[in-house]
Amino acid sequence: MTAPSDYPSQPDCRDALETLYHYLDGELTDGRRQEIKHHLERCSPCLEAFDFEAELKMVIARHCRDRVPDHLRVRVVMALAEASRQESQSG
Ligand SMILES: [Zn+2]
Repeated sequence: MTAPSDYPSQPDCRDALETLYHYLDGELTDGRRQEIKHHLERCSPCLEAFDFEAELKMVIARHCRDRVPDHLRVRVVMALAEASRQESQSG
């Protein structure tokens, strides 16, 4: 019996991934920001998701010089959720 350890499976992680959006948007308080930072430091799946989103936002910012549209945000959230769901099924 092996426990999968390389994808966000804990409620903690799902919460962290959702909070990433606010983190990237700068909508978090300093305290919340620290919490996310600590989680990312010890949770590589979330860190990878963070890197992905940070990169995506930079690309979008370069093209749009504006906030990420809500519909695009939703698509990214769905894509991330889908990715973790597929990974959890393959285990
Ligand atoms: Zn995590």
